[in-house]
Amino acid sequence: MRNLEQITGQRLSHYINGQWHEPSNGEYFDSLDPTNAQPWYKVASGDAQDIEDAVSAARAALKNPQWQRMSQTDRGHMVRRLAQLIDENREMLARIETRDNGKLLRETRAQTTIVPDTFSYFAGAADKLEGTTIPLNKPDMLNYTVREPIGVVGIIVPWNSPLYQLAWTLAPCLAIGNTVVIKPSEHTSASTLALMDLVEQAGFPPGVVNVVTGFGPVAGEALTRHPHIAKIAFTGSSETGKRVAANAASHLAQCNMELGGKSPHCVFDDADLDRAANGVVAGIFAAAGQTCVAGSRIFVQESVYDAFLDKLLTRTRQIKLGDPTEEGVQVGPLAIREQLEKVTRYVEIAKAEGATLLSGGKPPEDPALSEGWYFEPTLFTDVDNSMRIAQEEVFGPVGCVIRFSTEEELTELANATEYGLAAGVWTQSMERGLRFAREVESGIVWVNTYRAASFATPVGGFKNSGYGSHNGLESLREYSRSKSVMLDYSGKAQDPFVIRVKE
Ligand code: NDP
Repeated sequence: MRNLEQITGQRLSHYINGQWHEPSNGEYFDSLDPTNAQPWYKVASGDAQDIEDAVSAARAALKNPQWQRMSQTDRGHMVRRLAQLIDENREMLARIETRDNGKLLRETRAQTTIVPDTFSYFAGAADKLEGTTIPLNKPDMLNYTVREPIGVVGIIVPWNSPLYQLAWTLAPCLAIGNTVVIKPSEHTSASTLALMDLVEQAGFPPGVVNVVTGFGPVAGEALTRHPHIAKIAFTGSSETGKRVAANAASHLAQCNMELGGKSPHCVFDDADLDRAANGVVAGIFAAAGQTCVAGSRIFVQESVYDAFLDKLLTRTRQIKLGDPTEEGVQVGPLAIREQLEKVTRYVEIAKAEGATLLSGGKPPEDPALSEGWYFEPTLFTDVDNSMRIAQEEVFGPVGCVIRFSTEEELTELANATEYGLAAGVWTQSMERGLRFAREVESGIVWVNTYRAASFATPVGGFKNSGYGSHNGLESLREYSRSKSVMLDYSGKAQDPFVIRVKE
């Protein structure tokens, strides 16, 4: 697999039909390093023609006997081989991702440890996707169902955790026997392209996995409009998700939508406040707040409000910002310039709405960080849940602290949002925790923890956070379709005009 040096300054092409493929328009653009805003490599600018080539290759691969007729068990072996290769190269993949999006090396290392486990998990499931036999009210008739691959799946992922998010779709798709066309974010294509070196080594037939890089409104748009895409697996903002779903609807393609959030993270007065403060800090400042599950609305019960805020503020001020590859650094830069601009804009909006800036709110003064897209961990108080800062996804290190008094009030406030992705609650009372988990409208609920995840845990958003789910065995149903087969073994000629008459 290629390494950092082999990417630096290079032009990276599409990967179509098992070949490195120059963009049809001949155009490349710069991908920038978030620690210094300098060009790192050049990425192919895909267009409708490249998407056409990739979808054609993926359609042909679906019918290639080497893939279509491969036994489920052998497909599992191939996916497991890929898992092993990823595992052997996980340190380099982590370094590539950190260089591309500025996430802490510690975190990309953790993610590239989970990625091979995700592939292994689905490799094991490849030959366990069972149909059913249906008892019928018809004599001498056998009805069984089989689950088949769904077809060509278009996978679109954002820049915050490229391989981690790709794995939760690519692994089940391959285990089931689909073929795919991947469109990574224009900002973070390198790790996905490096993964193709491993896909090739693992022995997947040409066209089973294809990558077209480029801009969302061009390459992504062409992919979602393509009539031969059977399903779109989209991870990104709710706004783009709505557009993607509308495009997919024009040819009745299915969608799996993993979208944005504005997650409530709640602290009751009986919580262990030290544990809760650490959890809340991780919830909003890990990955510089650029996670879909960021606990950006921090609800604190009245009676512990001051004590908790004190702990939260102390921990927030101690956070060490810096180069994501350096030991001891806790928060790196924002991944892209637009994100820095967006976060800055939202800080101004919050101030104008009357929220009180308690901490942060600007880029750090350290001259060593002046070239990168760094932003201080930021806290607002005096926030009302109806303010824009409490309702709109910032996708950055900005938390707003909101008081509540009763459990009923909390549930109402927590659910008063268009989103429904994640929620967290800190309490020593099992009853309270379980009641909150029952009442809150979100796809995942954490009690006395936050951001815990596993490839075995099915998760999907509610409301404007999307639909469908990823991870867990439910994914096998997401990326397969059911076929019913009916077989008459009576051996008798039937009256051609009567299906069944009640005796
Ligand atoms: P965007 O919606 O802007 O982009 C997501 C992906 O869609 C990118 O690959 C982008 O390409 C592509 N894209 C953009 N426009 C189009 C289009 N018209 N047609 C097809 N594809 C398009 O989101 P961000 O990149 O800003 O990512 C952050 C968002 O992702 C946040 O809202 C976050 O909550 C959400 N997210 C959700 C997760 C979940 O599991 N629910 C997990 C992680 C993030 P390009 O980058 O080249 O423009």
